[in-house]
Amino acid sequence: MAEAAAAAQSAGGGIAHIYSLPPAQEALARHLAHIRLALHFGLEMGVLLALWLLLESGLARWLAQIAMRMSKRAWMQTAWFALGVLLVFNLMVFLPMNAMGHGASLQAGISIQGWLSWLRDEAVATLLMVAVAVPILVFGRWLLMRSPRRAWLWFWLASIPVILLGALILPEVVEPLFDHFEPLTATHPELVVQFERVVARTGTRIPPQRMYLMQASAKGNGLNAYVSGIGPTKRIVVWDTTADRMPKDEILFILAHESGHYVLHHLAWGIGMGIAGTLLLLWLMMVLSEWLLRILGPRWRIGSITELQGLVVLLLALAMLETLSEPVGNTISRAIEHQADVYGQEAIHGIVLDPQRSAVAAFQQLGLAWLEDPEPNPLVVFWTYDHPSIQSRAEFAARYNPWMPGKSPRYFPASPETHSGK
Ligand SMILES: [Zn+2]
Repeated sequence: MAEAAAAAQSAGGGIAHIYSLPPAQEALARHLAHIRLALHFGLEMGVLLALWLLLESGLARWLAQIAMRMSKRAWMQTAWFALGVLLVFNLMVFLPMNAMGHGASLQAGISIQGWLSWLRDEAVATLLMVAVAVPILVFGRWLLMRSPRRAWLWFWLASIPVILLGALILPEVVEPLFDHFEPLTATHPELVVQFERVVARTGTRIPPQRMYLMQASAKGNGLNAYVSGIGPTKRIVVWDTTADRMPKDEILFILAHESGHYVLHHLAWGIGMGIAGTLLLLWLMMVLSEWLLRILGPRWRIGSITELQGLVVLLLALAMLETLSEPVGNTISRAIEHQADVYGQEAIHGIVLDPQRSAVAAFQQLGLAWLEDPEPNPLVVFWTYDHPSIQSRAEFAARYNPWMPGKSPRYFPASPETHSGK
């Protein structure tokens, strides 16, 4: 893999080099693309099927009866029922599907995380999911019992501070449960110095203490950098695999892309759209679940959405809507990622020797590390990709030179000392 990456880099020589893989890796990437697609839709269908089966088989009713025997209080009953449903659900759907995904990732050499360590991460994620979801479901049912018609609206209002708090504590509380983080200055001070040049051009301060290195090499060979948190917890994180293996100019492009998310307020936009989307989703969820109950309530022996099993109907409606709305969220995400690509390439102009070549080489490396399909089906991209395909990102980067005469950069005023036009 290392030789292939080196070959891809040296082959550039100033001329744009579009994403391609050596034959063996390309075959593996195409094979992996099929597995990823099957797992992606398998998980979505699995979620819908499991919820449907819970209702259809009477398992939901049986869990409700147990929950009602466990306590006399309505909120405790909801908590027991929610716990039962979530655990059954996890064992039936998430655990097996995630295990298949991990197996494929191990086989392809993308992950090197042992099964025991993987299982530990799964257990922590499940506990976290239960700790968050059970109180939310208890609160939701409490609202439903008080105001069946307006519960969705009150629930949405209450969700806003929770969404904001979630985004705030994610990097401080949640991410360290799974990975180790340290200040980037401690291990890669030279990278911080370089990156500060990019930051200085953006006009926004990203102080070095908000740059972190994540130890990803213990678990895999993938390359990544990302932004996370809001307000005081906002940060840029670089995986150690990226910091150690990629040439400086390519890392700078990735960091400039990430600082684009930072500067263009993509996190705030994402949260804002999440809040707005939640309102629509909750309303549609109520409408759909009432319709489901009208049609199938008698068959499932559920008279009202306020019954314990009503929660499963709500979850089924939510899962149906999320499955259908997936391309909407992904289309928005791809547009945002493209903006950050444009920003990143403009931000490193004058700092690296050849922004186009650095961007293309970075995509080549990312594609190789994750074994990205060089020719994904456009429909698959439209429906499931939250980033544009590596191929289209590389092709755009190769073409994009806003410093040529007659063109103008989107985010940075053209500086007189441009050295483009190669
Ligand atoms: Zn991005």
